[in-house]
Amino acid sequence: MRKNIVAGNWKMNKTLQEGVELAKGLNEALAASKPNCDVIICTPYIHLASVTPLVDAAKIGVGAENCADKESGAYTGEISAAMVASTGAKYVILGHSERRAYYGENNAILTEKVKLALANGLTPIFCIGEVLEQREANKQNEVVLDQLQAVYELSAEDFSKCILAYEPVWAIGTGKTASAAQAQEIHAYIRSTIVDKYDAKVAENTSILYGGSCKPTNAKELFANPDVDGGLIGGAALKVADFKGIIDAFNA
Ligand code: PEP
Repeated sequence: MRKNIVAGNWKMNKTLQEGVELAKGLNEALAASKPNCDVIICTPYIHLASVTPLVDAAKIGVGAENCADKESGAYTGEISAAMVASTGAKYVILGHSERRAYYGENNAILTEKVKLALANGLTPIFCIGEVLEQREANKQNEVVLDQLQAVYELSAEDFSKCILAYEPVWAIGTGKTASAAQAQEIHAYIRSTIVDKYDAKVAENTSILYGGSCKPTNAKELFANPDVDGGLIGGAALKVADFKGIIDAFNA
């Protein structure tokens, strides 16, 4: 069965010391009881080796926000999937809209990244989503289907190790959230494309997260949809109370 997941994306926020404090705070907040979903925090690279040993691995998984599309070598400034895995991290966000928009990441690059992540035992959290003009032109389905081709190159076995995150770009960091109905509609579409590409069992077992201005106040309604299996959280992952509030959407 697919898992319910709340994953945080810290982006380029928090010094090492601040990040350690945030991770400690979340660990403490979750100490009393086991959350009703998998919880993941994706941090800047430099935080990984410090954060991984201080959180309770039974409750909180740790991931990176990116990795290189090359295995190793003369790529100054890059961080490989093997390096991420060597910190104890288990996840990596790939294809985030900010990486696509500001760093030119396309399907070919992302396929390489996903393959290297999987080869190094990392679970990719693969992001897809349309920009506002594409939504206004009712092109969201074709946009996400095209973006999915980067992971639809995988075998069914490898694809089954991935988590998907649908993040409408117009909702990221804007305070505008997709309505529960909009989220359900496109998540159901995404799942139907997995049936077409693989089969109904693979589709049924794939976790598809929603991302875009998700908050404690709207998480419950979004997650109540049958095809929304949790959230990828940006801004609200930077405060323990907000992130915990979203995790608690699965408790009520
Ligand atoms: C994100 O960037 O993955 C995201 C969902 O951001 P926010 O929650 O801040 O919209």
